Amino acid sequence: MTVEEGTGDGNAAARVVPGRSCGTCAMCCKLTKIDAVEKPAGIWCRHCKPGKGCGIYATRPNECRQFFCAWMTMPGLGDEWKPTHSKMVVAVHGAGGSRMTVHVDPQRPDAWRAEPYHTNFRRWAKLENMTIMVAVGNRYYTVLPDRDVDLGILAEDEIVLIEERRMPYGVELNPIKVRKDDPRAQAFLANEK
Ligand code: SF4
Ligand code: SF4
Repeated sequence: MTVEEGTGDGNAAARVVPGRSCGTCAMCCKLTKIDAVEKPAGIWCRHCKPGKGCGIYATRPNECRQFFCAWMTMPGLGDEWKPTHSKMVVAVHGAGGSRMTVHVDPQRPDAWRAEPYHTNFRRWAKLENMTIMVAVGNRYYTVLPDRDVDLGILAEDEIVLIEERRMPYGVELNPIKVRKDDPRAQAFLANEK
């Protein structure tokens, strides 16, 4: 979870679609990685009390305060996208909202392939040029305009970059895993700030 992905207060709260609230959902406290509480992706935060929410709500870290999933902030996403229903937490981040990470419940690892979700991921990749990453724990996939790619396990010190290859028939997108200390990764991360 990053601030840009943006369960919380302050500026992030201003982006919430009127009438929407987290209610009894706490899926982001399970599916996303939250560095501030040293929580890996795909397991419940130790502070989350089933049916009651955050056990440290008043003092929860900023990383949690600033996070709202896409269902909370994008009016175009209907209730089928609510994480308790979809079993996914969708986060939009990056410059101009150009990247989407779909955090999938490891107990429903194929949820992202179901409809209407997958068709929308493909459409956003194709028509809105978005980079769509799907994370099932630390196993990653990417949805490209023409195909899905299984990237395998992403190490802590790796990120995924999408290379453009000029081919005789046009531009082919090729996802690659690179270490974060690779100059290409550093250039990308600097651009993301
Ligand atoms: S996943 Fe979305 S709806 Fe659920 S608690 Fe987090 S921000 Fe709220
Ligand atoms: S600290 Fe609270 S809000 Fe943050 S992940 Fe844990 S239970 Fe959720």
